Amino acid sequence: MKNILCKNCGGSMILDASATTAHCKYCGSTYVLNHEDTDYYKQFYQRMRSFFTLSKDEQERRLKADELWETAEDKKFECLDGREIEVKYLYSFKDTAADSYTARRNIIYHFEEKNADCVEQFRKAISMLDYPSADTKSLSDFFPHISGGFELENGERLLVIKKGEDEYPLRLFGTLSGRHVAWIISRLENLCCVLEYNGLAHEDLNIDSVYINPYDHTAYLYGNWWSAGKHNTHTRGIFLDVEDNLINLRKIAKELLGFKADEKVIPDGENIPQALADFINGTPKVNAYEDFAYWDEMLIKAFGERKFINMDTEDGEIYK
Ligand SMILES: [Zn+2]
Repeated sequence: MKNILCKNCGGSMILDASATTAHCKYCGSTYVLNHEDTDYYKQFYQRMRSFFTLSKDEQERRLKADELWETAEDKKFECLDGREIEVKYLYSFKDTAADSYTARRNIIYHFEEKNADCVEQFRKAISMLDYPSADTKSLSDFFPHISGGFELENGERLLVIKKGEDEYPLRLFGTLSGRHVAWIISRLENLCCVLEYNGLAHEDLNIDSVYINPYDHTAYLYGNWWSAGKHNTHTRGIFLDVEDNLINLRKIAKELLGFKADEKVIPDGENIPQALADFINGTPKVNAYEDFAYWDEMLIKAFGERKFINMDTEDGEIYK
């Protein structure tokens, strides 16, 4: 996938869900895309969304993924100990803390020396994750597992996170239909319950820290854990509040539906039913468990029970 580079700082920019503007998370610059670029990224999003409806045929899925990875780019890093690390990545963007690269089975974060403390913060935050004993679905699969850390020249660092082959950055799917946004909300509500259970706030819970598997409708909170920590404490100058997890979840839903994070979602009947808009526009309940229960009610109001056969609610049951 081709990158748009920031004219101010040279960093890889992120795009909005409708592929009309590019934004640099590093220096704050924003550009309106030209028509060619908009067309390119809209097609790319469309290609990613086609994965939702791909048949169960393993070979066909593999073929589609291989085609996608033909657009991958290469990046080399020299380690202090002389080793060379070569990264083949589909997608990259620059954030204030790190450059991130999405490879086929890993996510690689590259930190400048001034942000080297992010590595320890990341490790520390995920080490605080614990799971309820009733967990029968391996909740830890949905959170980061570190597969390596490397020191580079000039005090730079690399951190490597594991990821499944069929897991892609949520950002790459562009705008989604209400039904797709609904299953993503369900998964994120579940992950927010895990955060709540651990008293953890993830201030960077956003489209760029979430990955999804489009085939089995799962969502993973892999990214930006240097902005996470215990409720009511500070991490890297940020105040951490668990309520923000649920606020951030709603912002993700807004963006996926093509609205800005500070806009209200406008219901349109079939695609965005009133109950879905009400949930996203409203304030979170007092904690993630109650918010999840409330979401279950709104989900049924929005789309009806029978139509949502894949939307089992049992994930939430273990917390109640
Ligand atoms: Zn920039």
